[in-house]
Amino acid sequence: MLAMLVVLSSVISQQHVILKADDLALTQRWQRYFSYVESQRLVTTAGVIGNRLPAMSTQSIDYLRSLGFVEFWNHGWDHGLPPPKCEADFIDPRSDDEVSKVDTCEFYGTSADCQMEHMRLCHEAVIDYLGVVMYGFGAPENKHDCNTVPAFLACGYDHWYFPKYSMLGCRPSGVCTLARGGGEIEIPTGVPNFAGFFSSYDPNRPLLVLQVHPNKWDAAMFAEFQQCLEYLLEQGVVFTTPGGLTAPDPPQMPATGTAGLFLAAVAILSLYVRMRRCQSCTFCSCTLSTHNRPVAPNSPTDTHASVASAGISSPHVTTNE
Ligand SMILES: [Zn+2]
Repeated sequence: MLAMLVVLSSVISQQHVILKADDLALTQRWQRYFSYVESQRLVTTAGVIGNRLPAMSTQSIDYLRSLGFVEFWNHGWDHGLPPPKCEADFIDPRSDDEVSKVDTCEFYGTSADCQMEHMRLCHEAVIDYLGVVMYGFGAPENKHDCNTVPAFLACGYDHWYFPKYSMLGCRPSGVCTLARGGGEIEIPTGVPNFAGFFSSYDPNRPLLVLQVHPNKWDAAMFAEFQQCLEYLLEQGVVFTTPGGLTAPDPPQMPATGTAGLFLAAVAILSLYVRMRRCQSCTFCSCTLSTHNRPVAPNSPTDTHASVASAGISSPHVTTNE
């Protein structure tokens, strides 16, 4: 029991960091990002824009499928800009004069039916092309409204990046909120800035979710990003993903006496939880799936193919952000 508490407390006391990488596109910049994450033996998330997948080559899809250290999440079907596919449904109550095109977005000001369709299209595209069931969502531009909630729930998702539903009065129950705050790598958005990160970084926050846009970075910006990560590694943080935020398995101990009965009960409970493949989040009062929990590169349990062996020579390249 004591050993279990020691293990739990040591895991919980370390700061955990999630890299929320937006706007997946198989470009050289994204491959540079993935290669760096893999070389540092880290894990990352990647927000998928669904309609980019059918345009990718088989080789590019195979490459993405090989990235066992990446946890994918739903970032919409078309990102809504420009122009939003749902523009005809735009229902913002402000007058046309007040609403510029940039105010419209895929999951903001569009109809419930449209949002449901776009959420579903991306969800199914990721299953079809990447062979992965996603469990999380983050809106393009981090803009959404209350119509987004039923679409989110219909996909069976359990975590939401940077939601604003507390402001909107439509907070879904049982959903894990991955909130912003405690540090920003990109200041402004799209521009890694080590000095800005250093001054915004809060080492006491248990969980940091850091938003990045690898496709927006030139070489100098990438170097700033690397500096941010090197600093975090020096602080001893644990890079993780929503699928990795769950409580660790109880340690194996001999089952004798009363303590043994207790541990046996814990083991049975743990087995039941693992069979459900969902565990309580260590940092929030919600339940997260571990179905698509990625594996840190080169770890003993690593089963993914290496980037080099994927043999990418001419990937599908897009300049869309
Ligand atoms: Zn985006």
